[in-house]
Amino acid sequence: MQRWLLRRLLEVPLGLALGDIRGCEHVEASSGPIAVLAVAWSRHIVCLSRECFARYLEELRPRGEETACDRCGAHVPPPGPRMTMARLGHTILVAGLCPECLKDGGHEGG
Ligand SMILES: [Zn+2]
Ligand SMILES: [Zn+2]
Repeated sequence: MQRWLLRRLLEVPLGLALGDIRGCEHVEASSGPIAVLAVAWSRHIVCLSRECFARYLEELRPRGEETACDRCGAHVPPPGPRMTMARLGHTILVAGLCPECLKDGGHEGG
């Protein structure tokens, strides 16, 4: 797995604990770890319930920034950034990356 994706995955539980990332009501109310879905361009995460998954699909439709790579911010000509998915423990993350960032060991953009 790319280090960038791993870092973003690790940010999810950390962000939740710090309040930087907001979970759906189920995530916020759960006392233990539950499976969550996250997208790199949103600070909202949801659980896998049917209603929350529908919300997640809504988040999957990027607004405005759909031509920008989530990692380096580079403009990606149509059809735009390539969706990539990574999973760590209970967290599934989707990010849109440019061809450079998709390559393992691509330029380190933070
Ligand atoms: Zn939920
Ligand atoms: Zn990129």
